Amino acid sequence: MERLGDNVYIHRVDATEFLVTSAVVFLTTRVFVFDTSISPQAMEPVKTMLDEQVGDRRVVVVNSHHHWDHTYGNAAFAGHDIVAHRSCRKLMASQGRSANESLPLAPPEGVTLPTISFGDRLSYMDDLDTVHLIHTPGHTEDSIILYLDKGRTLLAGDTVEWPIPSLAMRDGAALYVRTLRQLKQLPVDTVVPSHGPWMGKAIIDANERYVTGVYEAVAEAKLKGVSRHNLDVPAERFATEGVEIDEMCRRMHRENLELAYDEV
Ligand SMILES: [Zn+2]
Repeated sequence: MERLGDNVYIHRVDATEFLVTSAVVFLTTRVFVFDTSISPQAMEPVKTMLDEQVGDRRVVVVNSHHHWDHTYGNAAFAGHDIVAHRSCRKLMASQGRSANESLPLAPPEGVTLPTISFGDRLSYMDDLDTVHLIHTPGHTEDSIILYLDKGRTLLAGDTVEWPIPSLAMRDGAALYVRTLRQLKQLPVDTVVPSHGPWMGKAIIDANERYVTGVYEAVAEAKLKGVSRHNLDVPAERFATEGVEIDEMCRRMHRENLELAYDEV
């Protein structure tokens, strides 16, 4: 566990191709666990920390969205409230029935579904700080972020990613750009994406530039008659200058291009 701020801790797990970040936020009456990583075992360090430090506070588990690398550890917190956007539970259930071979098998303990849902925003008041859970559709339709008001910290899930975001939602470009522009209005010093280093607000700008740039370039190519599979639009054109685009990023970018092609 790494300490991020006065009452925020980060837990990173190596999922072979990428790192997955969960976070723990301690307030006076509640402790928030933001995302449960890839398995109940991966959450052991968080469980140990809770056992030692929770006391009589309530534990609130939050799923940033339904994807496996954010929810497969839910069973470690069965019996606690699990909060998510109102479409998350349904998407998790259908992910569980999916025949998609690239989806890792669910843990033998099963995947506990969220027990509390909300629509646009859910806020928890506390003497120490206020936690806002805000619906931020774009990466997926059920994406949410956790915003710590006094801490000026944004736990972003996959709503922002470094160096480029992953578009996993059909016909979601306009919504994604709106979400990113709204996020920039929040007074934030630290943004913590689920799969990259924490940094300032520059990551939100970088993601907005990427999404708008990709859609413009793909629309232009499509207009010229370029086919879906012959799109030649390198990720470097939209990523922050000098940032390395690794193999996994390149694959993600390819999927983004094809998703954009179907939408424009
Ligand atoms: Zn993810």
